[in-house]
Amino acid sequence: MAQRKIIVVGHGAAGLCAALSAVEAARERGIDIHVTIVDRAPEAACGGGSRWSPSNIRMLSPDAMEPGFVDGIVTQSGGRTDRAYFERLAAEAPATARWLQSKGVEFHTPPYYLARGPARIQPLGAIGVLFDALWRSAKAAGVEFVYGCELRRLVIDAGQIAGVEIGPVPAVLRADAVILASGGFEGNAGMLRQHFGPGAESLRPISPGTALNDGGGIRAALEAGARRSGDWNGMHIEPVDARSQGSAPVVLVYPYGIVVDRNGRRFFDEGAGLVHETWEKFARDLHFSLPGRTAYAILDAALFDIPEYGRAIRSEIPPMRAESIPELAAQLGIPATALAETVSAYNAACTGDASRFDETRKDGLASAPGLSPPKSNWARPLARAPFLAWPLVGAIAYTFGGIATDADARVLGGDGPIRGLYAAGEITGHFHGTAPNAVAMLRALVFGRIAGRNAIQSV
Ligand SMILES: Cc1cc2nc3c(=O)[nH]c(=O)nc-3n(C[C@H](O)[C@H](O)[C@H](O)COP(=O)(O)OP(=O)(O)OC[C@H]3O[C@@H](n4cnc5c(N)ncnc54)[C@H](O)[C@@H]3O)c2cc1C
Repeated sequence: MAQRKIIVVGHGAAGLCAALSAVEAARERGIDIHVTIVDRAPEAACGGGSRWSPSNIRMLSPDAMEPGFVDGIVTQSGGRTDRAYFERLAAEAPATARWLQSKGVEFHTPPYYLARGPARIQPLGAIGVLFDALWRSAKAAGVEFVYGCELRRLVIDAGQIAGVEIGPVPAVLRADAVILASGGFEGNAGMLRQHFGPGAESLRPISPGTALNDGGGIRAALEAGARRSGDWNGMHIEPVDARSQGSAPVVLVYPYGIVVDRNGRRFFDEGAGLVHETWEKFARDLHFSLPGRTAYAILDAALFDIPEYGRAIRSEIPPMRAESIPELAAQLGIPATALAETVSAYNAACTGDASRFDETRKDGLASAPGLSPPKSNWARPLARAPFLAWPLVGAIAYTFGGIATDADARVLGGDGPIRGLYAAGEITGHFHGTAPNAVAMLRALVFGRIAGRNAIQSV
């Protein structure tokens, strides 16, 4: 049998898992295979979001999913998502975790920010440790890497994938199967504006890798007849320190204080839910509705009483500090009288028993009726100097709109699977409403591995 060729588009977690599992499956079946990963980034910048991701993974342990995982996701999506896709994800996750362990990845149970979030595991080591382990393994397995090469078009002959057309130096690479793993469209200003409206083009990318995902894989697949999937008005976005140039400098202590706009006015219920239940709405509202697209989290010295409060602050720049609210307002450049009025109205509504405060759960410490907007949990007065402030902007991590795939990672066209075409990770849709917490990386890994194995069956 002549050598078979697989092209993987995208060098993130999904693409690396796909390439590696394809080589392994081919070896098991005695198939002579050549797998190439093409990526539009130069080698030093490849890896999209995966390279910068702390990779929290929604599992109880490497051997088990949390009970009710699939039901929870289907419910959270308002019944819009594909249950079979998430059932396959849950079924394959433990085997995928074991497979990653065989590549040298060790897992631990990380502390979450401050509140107790869903159960999760995480690769042990610095950010990028999982990506590096996959990259090393793929190199050792003989995968070829081609950088600075972007997907332009899929070549389809008589309903069967035949290769890819690439740029900027135009060429056609023939292949027996193609796996798309080129992320979402979070790095494409035009597509962001088209799907999220004016202003979306100025969204800050949360990491350097985020900016490189130009939606080219999605566009090429749609042109080749793939169906759409996921929520095209959905994105994962988080509040980050406006002053920091670092990757993902999130500031997630806002539920324990208040947040104001540049006029010194509150505009949302900071305590409406645990931080991962409110961060998308907060960051989105702040980017699309606030003057200057900036908000200010205001806290007081009570923050320092929360054990390990720094877990929820990933900015390397310390907060602004002042001995009084008017002094803080002056540093922020917002009207001192307005901020003082806002804080005193908020403080007057903090009539609950402050000893009930519990940062780890929704503690029910709500503001008194009449405060607008209300604060539903963690409502303690801001009374103790030093007063602290962080200027915040919204930063996009990934988009939800993508192409339809089934539980075998096959790309679905109008008449069913497009022969020889597979996809995994962010490029596939499936997410609706708000991002299911700690699932984006998991699905890149699981469906990347499935895509590689199944691509071998089709060559
Ligand atoms: C800072 C940060 C923190 C995160 N934290 C978590 C977390 O804790 N848990 C979690 O589950 N998820 C998290 N995520 C999301 C998760 O990491 C990503 O969704 C996941 O890594 C995506 O993997 P992927 O392989 O689909 O895409 P990516 O890793 O983004 O890789 C896409 C690759 O495709 C390349 N590419 C793009 N367009 C083209 C093109 N047209 N032609 C050729 N190549 C192209 C890019 O250069 C890139 O190398 C986080 C993301 C970020 C950025």
